[in-house]
Amino acid sequence: MSIVQNILDILRDEMTNRDIGRLKRVVIKNGQLAGVVTEAMQFAWEALTPGTSEFDGAKLEIVEIPLKVSCGKCGTEFTPDHNRYMPCPSCEEVLGHNVLEGKELYIDSIEPADPEE
Ligand SMILES: [Zn+2]
Repeated sequence: MSIVQNILDILRDEMTNRDIGRLKRVVIKNGQLAGVVTEAMQFAWEALTPGTSEFDGAKLEIVEIPLKVSCGKCGTEFTPDHNRYMPCPSCEEVLGHNVLEGKELYIDSIEPADPEE
């Protein structure tokens, strides 16, 4: 819940900056390692947004970003099948990889509601 609360606060600020009164759609990128379950976020959104003047009826779209790492030994970039056990496809090194993508959680885009709606 608190993460969605947080996102709603950021959205409110952003909407004020852009002079948007009501939101139609928001796209959020959710990395595989960000630690937030997409379904839980969707659930919290549906619990918190109805009846609010800014977000009532707005659609939350969550795009999941798969994990991408580069091998700490040979530098090969790959997407592991597993979050904790990540053998490199080139040299089979398991430890010391660098996470390139998949830790992030951010608002990707927002779409204002049509004025007449
Ligand atoms: Zn490697």
